[in-house]
Amino acid sequence: MSLEAQNPVQFDDLYRDLILDHYRRPRHKEPLADATVAAEGLNPSCGDEIRVELRVEDGKVAGIAFGGLGCSISQASASMMTEEAEQRTVADVDTLSQQVQEMLTHEGFDVDAVEIGDLEALSGVAKFPVRIKCALLAWKVLDIALAEARGEQATSDSDIPVRIASTN
Ligand code: ZN
Repeated sequence: MSLEAQNPVQFDDLYRDLILDHYRRPRHKEPLADATVAAEGLNPSCGDEIRVELRVEDGKVAGIAFGGLGCSISQASASMMTEEAEQRTVADVDTLSQQVQEMLTHEGFDVDAVEIGDLEALSGVAKFPVRIKCALLAWKVLDIALAEARGEQATSDSDIPVRIASTN
């Protein structure tokens, strides 16, 4: 018997339909024309890789795209991130990133208290400690890209190595 069959409710919580949809049909998974900043990162515990490209104009995320490979949670999280971040101000996207990371790392996080849209679908990940870094990866990469866009030095978490990349 598969793990999914033994724990149908639990796994339904992790692999919500929206997550599987983003994994199967990723949004913004293509090179971004005229990217102004790019960053990439690795989740060593699962082997997930994510690259994020941003085009920041007038303090706004005018364009965002990602590339990468890895498990469904890592790729869906990145795809959902690009949808929610596009056309928002850098400051708003920064706030969104902090809220999503709080949600992913705290089981029982009050999703109704924040405006995170479809990203709420990722809230179940908090119940699965081994998958949290998979979902966090895209956001850690986004953080360092946003910091670079603001001309700041981002601090990198050694658990999830991220770095600024070339935009070509
Ligand atoms: Zn993963």
